[in-house]
Amino acid sequence: MKEIKTIGVLTSGGDAPGMNAAIRAVVRTAHYYGLNVKGILKGYKGLLEKNAIDMPLRSVSGTLQSGGTILHSARCAEFREDAGVERAKQNCIEMGIDGLVVIGGDGSFRGARDLSLKGIPCIGIPGTIDNDIPCTDYTIGFDTAVNTVVEIVDKLRDTSQSHNRCSIVEVMGNACGDIALHAALGCGAEAVMIAEVPHDLEKDVLVKMDEAMRKGKTHFIIIVSEGVTGERAKDRKMDAFQLARYIEEKTGVETRATVIGYIQRGGKPSAKDRYVGSMMGNYAVKLLKNGIGNRVVVMRDNKIMDFDIMEALNMTRTPDLELLRTINEIS
Ligand code: ATP
Repeated sequence: MKEIKTIGVLTSGGDAPGMNAAIRAVVRTAHYYGLNVKGILKGYKGLLEKNAIDMPLRSVSGTLQSGGTILHSARCAEFREDAGVERAKQNCIEMGIDGLVVIGGDGSFRGARDLSLKGIPCIGIPGTIDNDIPCTDYTIGFDTAVNTVVEIVDKLRDTSQSHNRCSIVEVMGNACGDIALHAALGCGAEAVMIAEVPHDLEKDVLVKMDEAMRKGKTHFIIIVSEGVTGERAKDRKMDAFQLARYIEEKTGVETRATVIGYIQRGGKPSAKDRYVGSMMGNYAVKLLKNGIGNRVVVMRDNKIMDFDIMEALNMTRTPDLELLRTINEIS
């Protein structure tokens, strides 16, 4: 592999709190080792447009605590085509970019794999609030998103309690139920539904509500993953509002639905997301500096390590059934 003198860094796919911590660590680590950094704006789209800025040491000052991504993000259909990847490679050569750090989800990793195969060494860093990347236990942004949901549900619980209501709360996560599960445990939800585990509305919600009411409970929080009731849900039977009406009809308990939406993506990154972002950004630069490309940085058992991108993309993930059981036992 050619000696690395200049590293490019971009963020791609959905933004996530903590991406800036990763960018900052890439810039700071690269400079520590005497390398230059170019920040590519708007993901792969920016790479195709040669939309890049020089990133000196101080270009990332004051960014650690900010949400979103200072490099902006985008989705880019052209990059899915071989001609697009070829053009990106030529642009890297023309801009003097010897290696690239891609912060994003597994779609972004597929792009990084394609560019690596064309000879530009790429390192992927998992950045998405969804925690839906199989090769890693953790993706940057997840902790902040869960904390945001918990804060919102705490507020909803106040009004549910005052009015003796049931609240259905739809949370993000795409096809992955991790935000729903962690938030359900964190806010003491009475029930949770995720797409990976088939549920029985009668048994898992209505019977539970009935039992709880007989024990004197007057309000209920039900967390539902967007994989169950959201627009992109594969087997959606009802959206969150229809589900609320159904539960109200069946139980007689006034029921309201809240779809939290994009608020979950925003806000200051939590300490954990700053930590993981910083550690992964640092690790990614050290891989490139040592002549290693075509890897994904991951967190496994609280350790930062790396996998071949192909190997990482072929992994599958299983839902945390133990956590689901625990929630059911506690609720
Ligand atoms: P999130 O999980 O937040 O949605 P993501 O990285 O999975 O993030 P995608 O929209 O799937 O988001 O991918 C981001 C970009 O990566 C795409 O717009 C495209 O440019 C590139 N990309 C996605 N899939 C591929 C692929 N199969 N081959 C090459 N490039 C891809």
